[in-house]
Formats: sequence, structure tokens, C-alpha cells
Amino acid sequence: MPSDPMSAGNSVPEGLSTAISLLKQRFGERLVTNEDVRRQHANTLTWIEGEPPDAVVLAGSTQEVTEVVGVAARFGVPIIPFGAGTSLEGHVNAPRGGICLDLSRMDNVLRLNAEDLDCTVEAGLPRGRLNTYLRDTGLFFPVDPGTEEATIGGMASTRASGTTTVRYGTMRENVISLKAVLADGRVIETGGRARKSAAGYDLTHLLVGSEGTLGIITEVTLRLHGVPECIIAAVAGFPTLASACDTTMAAIAMGLGLARIELLDPLVIGAVNKHAGLTLDPLPTLFLEFHGTPAAAREQVATFEEIARSEGATSFSSAVDEAERKRLWKARHDALWTVREAWPGRTVLVTDVCVPVSRLAECIAETEIDIAASGLTAPIVGHVGDGNFHALALHRPGDAEELAKVLAFAERLATRAIAMEGTCTGEHGIGQGKKRLLQIERGEAVSTMASIKSALDPMGILNPGKVFDRP
Ligand SMILES: Cc1cc2nc3c(=O)[nH]c(=O)nc-3n(C[C@H](O)[C@H](O)[C@H](O)COP(=O)(O)OP(=O)(O)OC[C@H]3O[C@@H](n4cnc5c(N)ncnc54)[C@H](O)[C@@H]3O)c2cc1C
Repeated sequence: MPSDPMSAGNSVPEGLSTAISLLKQRFGERLVTNEDVRRQHANTLTWIEGEPPDAVVLAGSTQEVTEVVGVAARFGVPIIPFGAGTSLEGHVNAPRGGICLDLSRMDNVLRLNAEDLDCTVEAGLPRGRLNTYLRDTGLFFPVDPGTEEATIGGMASTRASGTTTVRYGTMRENVISLKAVLADGRVIETGGRARKSAAGYDLTHLLVGSEGTLGIITEVTLRLHGVPECIIAAVAGFPTLASACDTTMAAIAMGLGLARIELLDPLVIGAVNKHAGLTLDPLPTLFLEFHGTPAAAREQVATFEEIARSEGATSFSSAVDEAERKRLWKARHDALWTVREAWPGRTVLVTDVCVPVSRLAECIAETEIDIAASGLTAPIVGHVGDGNFHALALHRPGDAEELAKVLAFAERLATRAIAMEGTCTGEHGIGQGKKRLLQIERGEAVSTMASIKSALDPMGILNPGKVFDRP
């Protein structure tokens, strides 16, 4: 048994040590209580303090997950599902202690149905490995949160999305069905492989985005897509953020089939140039990608350039070369680390608002004014084709005053987005960090969420303290 200086000592349930002993007998070395391992399984990436679990179990199958849940339910012990721990809102913390259920060993592709464009995978499979597996099939899985390591189960649980969402959708659109273990140990399958179904309540999409609070996902059936015949990347520089946003809105309104449209502000471009050896002008910049037949992709590029120039774009270049494209997108995906590197000694609070695309320019303009008035440094990047952007609010770790300032800024930004009929989180989820904002955003609907939680997990053992606090 670990000593518990790091878990929420006085609220640890009485049966915890018995539960851990029983699981130790069953899982042997795959139950770990070593302090370093427990710390690695708490939140490590953001301002939210890590709250490690009391033990980590490395599960290998749905059956083993049911066994862990069975013991936890018997003793009322919290279970925190864990994929790769790349979530950003304290999702994997253990505020009441308990058992972290690490699914990273469940990383097999179980079935590939190339003719139906779908596959079934275990929940712990990293998304990068899925695309490596698919490399020679002519298919790919498009949802791409910044990290290759993010697992399919973690991504389903946070309803993740990324740079390609403007064309291929989020996890909501790309999960066909799931297998999950509920809090009472029942194993459910939420659907088959049919592309549509009207069979009863939509449990697939209840679990997608439930952040480990309603069930533990063990298998996921995913939609795949054909690798496009032609892919062209492009970079466009603008005099102002407003002109980059107006170009985005015009291109989306026109139904131009963009596969990616990402905004990077001059601060991010400066950091990216340094980190990735690029030589882009330090201007508000759009990174773009077009998919299709060679003729269709080229036509889209030409139309986009026309729109961009009419909005004042000062530069536009495109490339088909794969190595060049990869370099560009790696630079975009590394933006968070790049910004941290460019401001040594600072850490970042990553905001995540999303508004209707027609309100994007207005929301970003007001946010720029707010950043300047607050005296903050907060470079902006965004999946702007979806109206989603992140202000990366820099502050010194351990400086409570600065943290309070960036938190106040983040709250103003979120309420601004909500007032524009948007959301406080386009893709990262609620976790511990945005519970208050969820309440502001969804009001009475949160009590309906709480009713669903109570029905499916009456003892509240699944990832407690996330999404909302129980009444
Ligand atoms: C540099 C960087 C860039 C990022 N960019 C993006 C982005 O563009 N878009 C985006 O959406 N996110 C982004 N993220 C956030 C993160 O990658 C996603 O939230 C991702 O979906 C988390 O996957 P994971 O496997 O690490 O899950 P974890 O962090 O391990 O878990 C996330 C949540 O899901 C639960 N969970 C995990 N596995 C299961 C399971 N099998 N069953 C039930 N619950 C489970 C956990 O309890 C937790 O609540 C970024 C993060 C970083 C560090």
C-alpha cells in the first residue's frame, strides 16, 4: 500500500487498501504503486496541479477491465481511465485517490474492413500507430489532435478533433460504435458497423465525450477515409488577423473543400521559424491543405488564392511535395512546445474556445484587445475553419498573481465565446479545469448530465470530480 501524501487523504474510501490488495493478487506486477509511476499518471501538462492515483493497473483486455471495475465497485473506489495522458484540463487527475486504469497495453487493431472503410481497434491504440498500420491500404484515419500518442479511447472520451476536422469531422463523426464497461461491470456494445442506425438511444454518442465518467471504452469501431489522390499544401500571409479570418469565412461560406485551414499569429510564426527552420514572414498566416483529384485540388487552390488576395493577402505559395507538407504540419502540430521553447521559464495556459465561423473575426479581434489591455503575452493558433482557436497564455510557473491574471483572461475569453453562441471548449473538454464554465455555458442542461451520471454510475466511481461536481 502506498502512503498517501499525494492523494486527497481524508476522502480516500475505507475499502481502498483491500481493493488494492485484491487487485495486486490478480494483476501482480501489472499493478503499480511506485510513486514515480503514479505521478506520471496524473495531470502533468498544464497549470492544474497533478493529483496522482493510489495505484495504476495496466489492463490487457475487456475482461480484465471488468475485473478491475468489479473490485472497485465492491469497495466504492474511484477508477480513472488513462490513455496517453495528453489531455489538458486535469482529466486524468485523481482528486479522491483511487485506481488509474491504464489501457495503453490494449493497442491492437482487431479488424480492418477495407471495403466498408472501417476498422475496429482496442481503446489504447495510439492514433499515430493506427495510421502507420493503415499506410499500405490506401486508407487513413483523419482525426489528428496535436499528439501522435493520443489513444483512440482517450480521443473518443474527449470528443477530440484537430486540423482536418473542417473536412473529415471530429471523433463524433468518426466513431461508428463502441464496446464499453459500465460502472456495474456490464459490458455493452453500442452498435454494429452499419453507417446509420435508428435502433434506440444513441449510446455511442453519449459515451463519446464523456471523459471516462460514464463507462470505460475498450474497443472502438472507426470510420476510415481513402487517401486523396492529390494533396496540396499552401501558406498565405496577411496584413491583419482580421483579413485572415475574413478569408476563412469567405472560403467556408463558399463551400470550398478545404481539408485544413489553420491560423498562426505573428508570434507563433516567429517561434515556429526558429524551432523548425522555416523562413515565413512574421505575419498572421494561414496554413492550408486541399484534397482531391489533381485538377480539383489545383482549382481549389486557385480559388482560395483569389479570395485571399481580394482580402489583402500579401503572400501565397503552394506545394505538392510530401516532405515539405510534412514539415509544415509538424511545425503546426508542435506549436505548443515551440511557444514554450520561445519563452523559456514560462508555461502556457491553453484556451480552447469555438464560435460560429461567422463570429470568428469578431471574437479574435476582441480577444486581441483583451490581451493587449491585460498586458499578457498570448500567441494565437487555431483550427479556424471550425471557428476554434487557442490563445496560449504565458505565465511563470509558481507565480500565483500571473496565474490569476491568465485564468481571469481565459474566463473572459470563454464567456465572450459563449455570448457569441459558441463554447468554452471546441475540443479539449471540461475535465477539472472548465467545470464552472460548463455551468455558465449549459446551465440547466448540466443537471440533466448529472441525472445521466447518477443513473449509470450511482456510486460515482468513474473518474469523479470531472465535467461537473455532483450535487
Ligand atoms: C501538444 C498538444 C496538442 C493537442 N492538440 C489537440 C487538438 O488539436 N485537438 C484535441 O482534440 N486535443 C488536443 N490535445 C489534447 C489531447 O491530445 C486530447 O484530449 C486527446 O484526445 C487525449 O487522448 P489521451 O489518450 O492522451 O487521453 P487521456 O489524456 O489519457 O485521457 C483523456 C480523458 O479520457 C478518459 N479516457 C482515456 N481513455 C479512456 C477510455 N478508454 N475509456 C474511457 N475514458 C477514457 C480519461 O479518464 C480522461 O478523462 C492536445 C494535447 C497536446 C499535449
